[in-house]
Amino acid sequence: MNKHPFRADLHCHSTASDGTLTPEELIELAKERGLQGLAICDHDTIGGFLQARAKAKELNILLGSGVEFSCQHQGISVHVLGYDFLPDNQELLALCKRHESRRSERNKKIVKNLRALGVDIKEEELLTISQEKMIGRPHIAKILVDKGVVPNFETAFQRYLAEGKPAFSHGETFSLEETLAVIHAARGKAFLAHPHLHRGRKEVKKILELPFDGVECYYARFTEKEAQSFLEIAHKQSLLISGGSDFHGSIKPHSYLGSSFVDEIHFWQIFTNLHEKLY
Ligand code: AMP
Ligand code: FE
Ligand code: FE
Ligand code: ZN
Repeated sequence: MNKHPFRADLHCHSTASDGTLTPEELIELAKERGLQGLAICDHDTIGGFLQARAKAKELNILLGSGVEFSCQHQGISVHVLGYDFLPDNQELLALCKRHESRRSERNKKIVKNLRALGVDIKEEELLTISQEKMIGRPHIAKILVDKGVVPNFETAFQRYLAEGKPAFSHGETFSLEETLAVIHAARGKAFLAHPHLHRGRKEVKKILELPFDGVECYYARFTEKEAQSFLEIAHKQSLLISGGSDFHGSIKPHSYLGSSFVDEIHFWQIFTNLHEKLY
């Protein structure tokens, strides 16, 4: 008998994107926290998931495939969680590659915007902050804090980097429809991430009319009441349910691994390919 009830945190980030723990460290932390399952959903890359597989096997953690794609839909930013896909699918790998180029171009624009605003920052500094290719705004925010340009991470977003702020740039955008199609081509399941960040239930319901498989109902430190509204939508629209902490490590210290999770039933409803030895 396992001494802990089954819990699987299906949303966290590693150093492959903007998290501060390596994929292996995430697996070790999951073990320490008594989690049985995990999905590493790095932004626009599956590198973190791939790297964590050996450690997950060693420590007996059920590691499902995961990714969090950024896309645009009718002028709004949408994050889509992809789960249970085949990691060697060429369309999926090609989409990750295109995001790599998008980020590289976009980061150049953001640095240029910051320089135009009088901030002393150079493109080369981005290359030293992470060994990985999925460099994003949190990395830039960290540079601004380290340089003393802003007092903290949040202020970097509020003053410069959040959508609509003067240094912001989308870069190339990918449509939600295309993102869903790629996840499905890889036999994966697509979930709407952190639905509470949208403008309300009406917007969430509308987005979910597209071919989604599920919605992230448990998030970070949501109360049962906060989850309820999304559980109702999932039920009405016949969607699967996921949940996770969106843990990023020390860069976002208010979130901790395992703060949100799914139980065994919901885990296996999502990860139907896990035992096919296809991962
Ligand atoms: P990017 O993928 O480069 O567009 O950066 C998006 C990431 O930045 C999100 O996934 C969060 O981790 C982080 N982020 C976005 N907005 C904020 C904010 N206002 N404060 C702190 N972190 C943020
Ligand atoms: Fe992030
Ligand atoms: Fe997100
Ligand atoms: Zn996330």
